[in-house]
Amino acid sequence: MNMDQVFHMVGGAGENSYANNSRLQEKAIFKTKPFVEEAIKEILKTLPEKFVVADLGCSSGPNTFRMLSEVINVVDQHCHQLSQQKPEIQFFLNDLPSNDFNNLFQLSMLYEQNIREEKGDDYVPFYVVGLPGSFYGRLFPSKSVHFFHSSYCLMWLSQVPKGLEGEKGYQLNGTDIYISKESSSIVSHLYLEQFKRDFLEFLKSRSKELIFGGRMILSFLGRTNCPSSEIDLYFWGDLADALKALVSEGLVEEDKLNAFNLPFYAPLMEEVKSTINMEGSFHLDQLQTFESNEDPFDESNDNFVVDKSLSAKNIAKYTRAILEPLLVSHFGNDIMEDLFSLYAKNIEKLMSAGKPKVTVFILLLKLKDEEQAICK
Ligand code: SAH
Repeated sequence: MNMDQVFHMVGGAGENSYANNSRLQEKAIFKTKPFVEEAIKEILKTLPEKFVVADLGCSSGPNTFRMLSEVINVVDQHCHQLSQQKPEIQFFLNDLPSNDFNNLFQLSMLYEQNIREEKGDDYVPFYVVGLPGSFYGRLFPSKSVHFFHSSYCLMWLSQVPKGLEGEKGYQLNGTDIYISKESSSIVSHLYLEQFKRDFLEFLKSRSKELIFGGRMILSFLGRTNCPSSEIDLYFWGDLADALKALVSEGLVEEDKLNAFNLPFYAPLMEEVKSTINMEGSFHLDQLQTFESNEDPFDESNDNFVVDKSLSAKNIAKYTRAILEPLLVSHFGNDIMEDLFSLYAKNIEKLMSAGKPKVTVFILLLKLKDEEQAICK
């Protein structure tokens, strides 16, 4: 599987598009708001004339512009309060090349038009550029970005861990598609090693690109040690079960399923911290963990699901907006309706054990060099 070519969210603005099914991810953007405010205020102390912001893994939809708005508003308010000259903002919107950049550019034009109409002359000048490429490698010249932002991305690996596929008839993970209760410890080990390699590469690249005094905010799915998080860890099991059912019905070849594994890893916080320490360039300034109900439309805090069938459908729908292109590239288009309807039924059954939740980590990072320079 070549992630650069096949991995993208469902494009466009239709019923199944990511743009229309990204409410879960939107919640993380709201949660990071105080971090964004703090980061930008710190950066503005260096009085940049040109403020360079990069959203890594921006996808294509309203969330991208929510992030843009937050940055613009904080810059606007802060400069206003301090009677400081407003910098010009350059936004780089990055994603893999198969992302729907066309839709993104169209939304961008509308967004700019709205802001100009709303703010008139009092508008913070900003410029938007699309940047295709993998964030697991260099994307920018050295010391050229003030603020990196990446939301709901870093659990996606650069590839399925090498060694997982094995030879035909001997695939390490069998018909499972992620670490499951049945997987051998080698499977977890391979996933963890791939995550560490990727995250190290990500940090190394950003450490070269970030300007002295800059900040980076990352939010992504993780997992915790507490027993209730067992559900987070195994929520792909329902999708694997749906695929297995399609194998039994003769709609998917068993070999095809054996050869499929998700390029995904939800790390523990210790794994994240130890990789940051190992890479060595960044200081973890702030850290927050929060749980979201996996049903994007469920806002309640209790552990009871009122309408299990509806809730399961909501979860299946947002998952489809994320995974359909990847699954189609491997299994073909024909099984998608059946697959996601079975997936929804499986999730519904799981809900008797409690409400499925996802764990999200938010990290605010700055370069260590900066700290050392201030101490001197
Ligand atoms: N930030 C958006 C989108 C999150 S979905 C939001 O909060 O709604 C995850 C995005 O990460 C997808 O668009 C996917 O294509 C992108 N992505 C995954 N791996 C990537 C990589 N290696 N380089 C760049 N983008 C990547």
